[in-house]
This record gives sequence, structure tokens and C-alpha cells, in this order.
Amino acid sequence: MPTCPICGNYDWIGNHKCPPKWLCSDDQEFERDERPDADYMQENGHAIFATDAEKAAISFAEYYQAREAFYPDEMTVFVMDESREKIWKYIVDRETVPSYSVGWNYKPEVYPCSPVGEEVEP
Ligand SMILES: [Zn+2]
Repeated sequence: MPTCPICGNYDWIGNHKCPPKWLCSDDQEFERDERPDADYMQENGHAIFATDAEKAAISFAEYYQAREAFYPDEMTVFVMDESREKIWKYIVDRETVPSYSVGWNYKPEVYPCSPVGEEVEP
């Protein structure tokens, strides 16, 4: 499936319509109860394409996780819509989900329970 050059989503060209664009920022620059204004968000916000502000906050947290070596269990994300009329504040929780994978060279070692065909003396 092709990737949209604007929003980066996978979809069939022709049917595809980009979801709305949001500007997202984490709260590292801000004290508790302080909020960024629209100009700050416009200048420093990271563009995320998502169907709503909440999904934008989650996508931003995922982007942040991929970018930073250290990722907090909980992060504050500010999200502004393109009209600049509203800025949402979300606390995004991370759930630690372990993931496992096996490389191509993996060969299982076999430990048979008992040797096949061996007779046991009574
Ligand atoms: Zn798109």
C-alpha cells in the first residue's frame, strides 16, 4: 500500500483523505498550570495528522518515545488545532508492553523427555 506524502498514512491513493493536522508539544518548557499560547504552539509544535486531538496526543507521545532515549511513564501533551482557537492538554500514560521477536537464525534446541526406543529393565 502506498504512503501518503503529506500525512504519512498508508492508504489507497484515490480514496485517501488526510486526517486533520494538529500541532503538538510536550510540557518540558512549562511549569505546572502554565500553558503554551497559540504562537508558541505554531512555532514549536510538531505536526501530527490524526482524526481527533486525543489521537494526536497519543501519536505525538509515540513519536516522542521513538525520538528520546528516556521516556517518562506519563507525559503532558498540548495539542492545538489548525484554526489556533483551542489548545487541549492531555496526560498520556504509557503502558509498558513487552514485545518479543525471534531472528532468522534462531534454531530451537531440542531436549527430548526420554530417549526414543530405549527399553527399561524391570
Ligand atoms: Zn494523507
